[in-house]
Amino acid sequence: MSYEEVKKVWMNGRLVDFAEAKIHAFSHVFHYGSAMFEGARVYKTKNGAAAFRLDEHIKRLYDSCKVYRMEIPYAPREFQAAIFDTIRANGFDECYIRPVVYRGLGALGVNPFKSPIDVLIAVWKWGKYLGPEAIEQGVDVCVSSWNRMAPNTFPAMAKATGNYLNSALIKMEAVTNGYSEGIALDNAGRISEGSGENIFLVYGGRILTPPLAGTILPGITRDSVITIARDAGYTVAEQQIAREMLYVADEIFFTGTAAEITPIRSVDRIPVGSGRRGPVTERLQKDFFDLLSGEAEDRYGWLTPIPVEAGQVVGRRS
Ligand code: PMP
Repeated sequence: MSYEEVKKVWMNGRLVDFAEAKIHAFSHVFHYGSAMFEGARVYKTKNGAAAFRLDEHIKRLYDSCKVYRMEIPYAPREFQAAIFDTIRANGFDECYIRPVVYRGLGALGVNPFKSPIDVLIAVWKWGKYLGPEAIEQGVDVCVSSWNRMAPNTFPAMAKATGNYLNSALIKMEAVTNGYSEGIALDNAGRISEGSGENIFLVYGGRILTPPLAGTILPGITRDSVITIARDAGYTVAEQQIAREMLYVADEIFFTGTAAEITPIRSVDRIPVGSGRRGPVTERLQKDFFDLLSGEAEDRYGWLTPIPVEAGQVVGRRS
């Protein structure tokens, strides 16, 4: 990961230089993790730069903020225009997009209402999240000793920065023990998700993934893979899955904006199936990547072209 190519960051309606993109030490977000964010990607397609499911990412950001009673001072279309402006200001034809809505400089009590809602949009170049080989070779993972948050503790549906302290515990334990990633169980001991990915298993010809029931992020890649898999004729069930299914599944893979579709080749050193990427995973990867590259027709309307023309930079409303 490199930020050298990043020139501009969008902050509260202004494009500022990378070096100036700072937040005050007294900001609420720094002390209490009070921010909602997104992670989307721009791909270099055959027809130019295009963002993948940008409307859904923006919608999830507004949903996350609603849960935490944070009102974004822009309309979704203005937000989208600001994202385009940021991408253009950096001259990127492929990148990762990271909008953050946070509680800024106000009052440093726990009560967030006394701190303003600030918005920033960062973009940078980000390669293969779990390593360049991971997409073909797969990764070795473990079951984490940390559970994902239980329903009614932290809302899993909201993509809140604070949730990622739990993710960091999962990730640190995994890499310290020589694994690429950890799989967290939920509070009932069933499979939940990775520290930054949703998970799918293939067993007996069926594709299984944990349900949206308060312990996983409603992943946009997860939703895309379910759609693609059903269209390809597979049966996909969103259901509770016992931990031991990880040891007997024919195939397992992660999905996420950063991880895309990454095969898992072992769990707790037990090989998954033949110990390499399986045919269902490969087929879904092909359909997914063909769509992202513009190789296949965008039959779901998932790609939003980045307009070449500069739009206006929207000013702060509050
Ligand atoms: N779960 C968690 C905890 C994540 O951080 C992510 C990445 N945003 C995902 C799942 C996958 O979501 P998406 O496909 O929307 O990137």
